[in-house]
Amino acid sequence: MGVYTIVTSGVPCIQKLVKKFEREEMNDISVYRKELSEFSRRAFYRGLVGGTGGNLSVRVRDTNTVLVTPSGISLGDVVPEENILVNLEGEILESSKGLRPSKETGFHLAAYQLRPDVGAIAHVHPPYATAYSNKMAPLPLATVSARVNLKHVPCIECFLPGSSELRESVIEGIKKNPDSPCILMKEHGILAMGRDLKHAYYIADLTEDTAKIAYIEATIPPKP
Ligand code: 13P
Ligand code: ZN
Repeated sequence: MGVYTIVTSGVPCIQKLVKKFEREEMNDISVYRKELSEFSRRAFYRGLVGGTGGNLSVRVRDTNTVLVTPSGISLGDVVPEENILVNLEGEILESSKGLRPSKETGFHLAAYQLRPDVGAIAHVHPPYATAYSNKMAPLPLATVSARVNLKHVPCIECFLPGSSELRESVIEGIKKNPDSPCILMKEHGILAMGRDLKHAYYIADLTEDTAKIAYIEATIPPKP
């Protein structure tokens, strides 16, 4: 009886401790640094990006800060301490080795400002989805899973990487398509948005898979 009293009265206390631990863990920047590098590597080794292309970022919960990958370093090589902490105005708060944040930080930050539900972004250059972007048309959603999870994948015009024109074009694309988790960027790549890094990665992954299926389908002759 006495034991029961201790255990049951201790449960809310343990739950509180677990919640506190989870909160602290979520605010521990080193956890974000590790996760950002992990998904950057996954994107590279999954072939969603080649060379030094692409960039990922994650919003640090309950703060006005974002952790973003460094410019000019392959996503396959980014180590946790190289990721750069910026505020929503783009000011650098923490950077090791004098590295610069991705040149696309501007459109990442704009996306976070426009979409409070977005917690992470993956900008990558996957071959099939990028090939479809050159058609300057929405991605054909060839599967039911794509229709459910991607809803609509519009396309925005081509501008120079890192330019204010590209940033403006991304802003316009998000405003016109507030429910789209992914946007094709003509002759460049894609912008995948998710509630966290895993989700943003899955959106990018599914977008590329969907483009590949659409491409294969287009090569199959119609029924005679
Ligand atoms: P960064 O190396 O500056 O992130 O640029 C890569 C890229 O994909 C530009 O669009
Ligand atoms: Zn790019």
